[in-house]
Amino acid sequence: MPVLTRLIPSPLVVDIRPGALDDLGCVLADERISHSGRLAIAVSGGSGARLRERIAPSLPGATWYEVGGGTIDDAVRLAGDIKAGRYDAVVGLGGGKIIDCAKFAAARVGLPLVAVATNLAHDGLCSPVATLDNDAGRGSYGVPNPIAVVIDLNVIREAPVRFVRSGIGDVISNISAVADWELAHRVKGEKVDGLAAAMARQAGEAVLRHPGGVGDDAFLQVLAEALVLTGIAMSVSGDSRPSSGACHEINHAFDLLFPKRAAAHGEQCGLGAAFAMYLRGAHEESAYMAEVLRRHGLPVLPREIGFTPDEFVRAVEFAPETRPGRYTILEHLDLKTEQIKDVYADYVKAIGS
Ligand SMILES: [Zn+2]
Repeated sequence: MPVLTRLIPSPLVVDIRPGALDDLGCVLADERISHSGRLAIAVSGGSGARLRERIAPSLPGATWYEVGGGTIDDAVRLAGDIKAGRYDAVVGLGGGKIIDCAKFAAARVGLPLVAVATNLAHDGLCSPVATLDNDAGRGSYGVPNPIAVVIDLNVIREAPVRFVRSGIGDVISNISAVADWELAHRVKGEKVDGLAAAMARQAGEAVLRHPGGVGDDAFLQVLAEALVLTGIAMSVSGDSRPSSGACHEINHAFDLLFPKRAAAHGEQCGLGAAFAMYLRGAHEESAYMAEVLRRHGLPVLPREIGFTPDEFVRAVEFAPETRPGRYTILEHLDLKTEQIKDVYADYVKAIGS
């Protein structure tokens, strides 16, 4: 009998719990990721410095590298610094920018990456993509998935609550992204990877339907797990399809049209998802999504992140151009300005202002 299975690129270690950071050295040694303890650790100068002080004594073989920002130059510089030493692995300890820099640098020098996330702002902490600013704006670079993901819920609690909120919006938007994928299948015959779609959708549904809030460990656990599973779903499908549809096109449009005023990634994606669900005629789902987003303190109307309805309409109209080739409800309906205005007015009525 043929054995037809596939191997899923996924981390060796996923350690999500309160206090996980204190055991980092033991976990890496146990799993043979770093037997010698020689680690190159990338941190930020700000909040990273405090964590460094705390955990440096437990990682005597580590060399610490301060990363300036989230640009491709920062990542290339980090890779250059790291290649001067001998290390078992690179550790990215921080928020999205630090982890993305470390991901890119680790890939460049051929070392495995350990992602230690200090906030839950988006699903990039375990994804095969590094998002870095370049001369043309912002680019997405393909990289291997992290070999280990460590999330200490006590550290997450110390991060500003808006980071947690952003993660909620990003993961809930999976539901709309998968619906876009299925639409592309029906209309364009695009192949849907059922496993990737299942992982991404279940992650979104788990957070959407969880009764807890940003202050509960039980909720943070589910949110962190959902973000990690979403990243792995992207590895399974080989692209961002499971977690990025019209919701993310609207988010990119905000970023590109109003670069100085753009809100957090997950805030824009959550709003984009609630609106995209309405567009596709899933009015009940859209209203429920909006209700949950509101409960967590996330925006569901453009003015809640400082945009006028007209600016929102412009963003929706421009959105398809941000991701050529991705077929979503926006490309499907191909709405003109006046039509977007009309649907937006109906959306506002449906969710209540
Ligand atoms: Zn996202």
